[in-house]
Order: sequence, then structure tokens, then C-alpha cells
Amino acid sequence: MPPPPIADNLHRVRERLARAAQRAGRQPEDIVLVAVTKTHPWAYVATAIAAGQRDFGENRPEEAHAKFIDNPDAAGQPFRLHLIGPIQSRKAKIALACRPALIHSIDRAKIARRLDRLASERGVVLDALLEVNVSGEASKHGWSPDALRAELPDLLALPHLRLHGLMTIPPYDPDPETARPYFIALRELRDALAADFPDADWSQLSMGMSHDFEVAIEEGATIVRVGTAIFGPRS
Ligand SMILES: *Cc1c(COP(=O)(O)O)cnc(C)c1O
Repeated sequence: MPPPPIADNLHRVRERLARAAQRAGRQPEDIVLVAVTKTHPWAYVATAIAAGQRDFGENRPEEAHAKFIDNPDAAGQPFRLHLIGPIQSRKAKIALACRPALIHSIDRAKIARRLDRLASERGVVLDALLEVNVSGEASKHGWSPDALRAELPDLLALPHLRLHGLMTIPPYDPDPETARPYFIALRELRDALAADFPDADWSQLSMGMSHDFEVAIEEGATIVRVGTAIFGPRS
């Protein structure tokens, strides 16, 4: 199969992002496009970097480490790596070794505490978001809004985790409008938590993927995570 037209795809996604931002009265520069490269080779990343892309997302720490850290071709390249998938406890060390710019997917207190302890041992601070299961769907990772609220004081007290906001993955539906209520729910939860915990940073909302990122931007996403629309289908 020939490689996908990554530079063209990126250009189109950036245009769609800009139009969605305009519809919402927002600035396109205020929205970070994370290009999701899971299952794809480094060559795809390199092509995207050459086309000006800087933020990349991976959902498995081991794959992220092999592709972006333990890879001579990646050395010195201007990327920011985002970890966007659930992190198992035994993968916490390798997640840290990825030197992530942002972990989107802290989904339970246990992994928050473990990452905090490992970060403290290394003398680093991790930037992270909390993943919320706004739909209540059993297959989804993340806190229920009530559980998150109850655990927030402890989470905010972890000295080596710097929290910046929330992330969610709505139930999949090809119609992007189906996701809108979940995006609204995440924004409203963020606003409520910001009122109750005003000393914390609640600036970031990571929501929206290939098929629904425009709706997410209309509803306040500051970070969108887009794979298929840039790199084609995953095998
Ligand atoms: C794979 C993945 C994406 C990108 O999905 P696409 O539909 O290919 O854009 C976004 N977020 C997370 C958490 C993912 O695992």
C-alpha cells in the first residue's frame, strides 16, 4: 500500500480545525492538534514533522518509548510526546521514561500516586490531565464525575503531578453530533470543578478524534487527538 498523503491530510485537518474554531469565536492557535501515531512507523512521524507538526500521541507507553525515545532517528527531532492511553501500573516506569509533554489519561488514584512517586524519585514533575468517563459506559476508562470530585483533594496534593484539566473519550458513533452532549458534559464538569477548586489549573480540555474533533472544538476542546484523518486507517 502506498503511504498516505500525510502532509495533505495534515493541511486539511488544520483547515477544518481553523473553521471550527472560527464558528466558535475562538482562535485556531489556542487549540493543540495532537497527531496520533499508534501502530504507525517512525517514517510517518518524520513526514509529519517535516510538514510542521510537533505534537504526537501514543496510547501504549512501550510503543511510544520504542518509537520516540529508543530510536536513533528520533534523537534531536522537534516533537512533543503525549501519552493518551490507559497506563497499567507495571508500565508506569516506561511511561515516565517517555518524558511525556502531557499525560492525558490518568484514570485512577493508584496510577496517579505511582506516577507521582516515580516522578519524585527522578526529580521531575509530570504534566497531566484526568480522564473522565462522562457517558458511564462500562467499557470506558476514567473517573465518574462524582468519584473524581471525591478524590480531587488528594490528587491535587500530589507534588510531582501538575494537573491541567480533563480528558474524555465518548462512546463511538459515526455521527459526530452524538458526541456533543458528552463534550458539553466534560466542559460543564470542568467549570464546576474550577469553581470548587479555584487554585488548580483547569485550562485544558482534551476531547475530539478524527470523526468528531470539530464538534469538540465547538464545545471548548483545547486539545484534539487525531489519528485516522492524518495517517489513514490502522491495520
Ligand atoms: C487512537 C486514539 C485517538 C485517535 O483516533 P482516530 O479516530 O484515529 O482519530 C484519539 N484518542 C485516543 C485516546 C486514542 O487511543
